[in-house]
Amino acid sequence: MSNQQSGAVARYQLLPAVRDFISKPKRMLIGADWVAAASGETIDVLDPASEELLTTVPSGGEADIERAVRAAHAAFDSPAWRDLYPTVREKMILKLADLIEAHAEELAQLEALDNGKSVMMAQIIDVGAAVSFMRYMAGWTTKIEGSTIEVSPPMPGVKTFAFTRKEPIGVVGAIIPWNFPLLMAIWKVTPALVAGCTVVLKPAEQTPLSALRFAELVLEAGFPPGVLNVVTGYGHTAGAALARHPGINKVAFTGSTSVGKRIGHAAMDNLTRVSLELGGKSPMIVMADATLDMAIQGLAGGIFFNHGQVCTAGSRLYAHRKIFDKVVEGVAGAATQMKLGPGLDPTTQMGPLVSAEQRDRVCGYIESGLKAGARAIAGGGAASGKGYFVKPTVLVDTREDMAVVCEEIFGPVLVAAPFDDLDEAVRLANGTRYGLAASIWSNDLSTVHRLIPRLQAGTVWVNAHNVVDAALPFGGFKESGIGREMAYGNIEMYTETKSVLMFI
Ligand code: ADP
Ligand code: MG
Repeated sequence: MSNQQSGAVARYQLLPAVRDFISKPKRMLIGADWVAAASGETIDVLDPASEELLTTVPSGGEADIERAVRAAHAAFDSPAWRDLYPTVREKMILKLADLIEAHAEELAQLEALDNGKSVMMAQIIDVGAAVSFMRYMAGWTTKIEGSTIEVSPPMPGVKTFAFTRKEPIGVVGAIIPWNFPLLMAIWKVTPALVAGCTVVLKPAEQTPLSALRFAELVLEAGFPPGVLNVVTGYGHTAGAALARHPGINKVAFTGSTSVGKRIGHAAMDNLTRVSLELGGKSPMIVMADATLDMAIQGLAGGIFFNHGQVCTAGSRLYAHRKIFDKVVEGVAGAATQMKLGPGLDPTTQMGPLVSAEQRDRVCGYIESGLKAGARAIAGGGAASGKGYFVKPTVLVDTREDMAVVCEEIFGPVLVAAPFDDLDEAVRLANGTRYGLAASIWSNDLSTVHRLIPRLQAGTVWVNAHNVVDAALPFGGFKESGIGREMAYGNIEMYTETKSVLMFI
């Protein structure tokens, strides 16, 4: 492949490790084996900046999932994993974090190639935040506790001893999206490893590469074979087979609300535990007293970070009428100045969207908004030329019933509307079926504190947006999901509580 590279990929300095990884045949990791799909079928992996074929990966299906679930169960039951001291598991996770950090540039290039995102951002966020998350989570490995409890049995005089144990939930099926491929894999796999679970990971079909490289590093860190299995494949084949497999003890999913509902239904048939981190349409509320220069920068980042392909993207802007024009003009100015280009170009501020399908979906939304009477004051559609580029877009003159205002677009599209008072801001902000996040831009603590309890959102940022921390619970109200990732609660998602009552 490296000899045939042309166009966008060849123009930027790819590390030899990335060239080697791309050019070798891709196999999935099941137990100790790197295997092709049982069907022999493959999926093309494209560079979204050039539309060129990078490589192919196995198109895993039901038979591969079956094999992976068996391997994961064997690893779960094996003393090589089950009997490890927490300190040893912790050390392995920290070693894996070190390996990822040591390969940061390589992994960032892989993400930039596969997803289209900026290599600089990938290094800071996709890899950097993943390493921080792992190191934070590793510490919980040695701090999983039950309790001793005084009980009162119905017969008098009996001596008792009662306690609870937190036990690993079993085999985890992790299904993840393409917007932060490595980071999402690590958000699922790490707490599962902390708890002592084993995992079958199904990366998104659009971005399978970093998960496969991650799997190599997991083996290098010393995890026994079968603790992590990676099956690449489509959602409706490999993903669906994983979600409905009765041998899976917990499904951890991040993705769209519609797929999340399907996965929830499939899991419920087996009473498989399930956590869902789903879509959003997060509002950014700008009060009249906000420091506008700072707010405008932050609002532009709130929507355009990762090209708007972020579940928490600040995709609806509500600004007080007094400052509305100034705010939207500021954000539109920032949008117009953004440099579009391949993710591998270090000067790129916004890369292409992940796929032609995604570009068409996003452009379809923009067109529907324009047709319904919205006006684009920045962007307004796809960029010309090769690659799945969409111009950062700001729409005004919107109405609450427009699809661009109610539905998650998952692209660089901001809708903006003014409000006159706090009650109207709250009503607008809460006016969707989602409830993932919100941000308030103001210096008036009284207003901020009056607003926070009224917002239906799992996370509220003040004078910031899209900042996620390993120590702070993260998840959605309403149709944005079930459960909270991050913090100690994330470990509890991967454990069962066992109550023990002894007559002694
Ligand atoms: P997006 O629409 O942003 O691509 P999806 O929710 O479709 O997000 O995809 C997130 C993950 O869910 C991907 O790994 C995808 O393959 C998987 N997926 C899609 N459809 C299904 C399904 N019916 N069952 C299980 N997994 C699925
Ligand atoms: Mg999809």
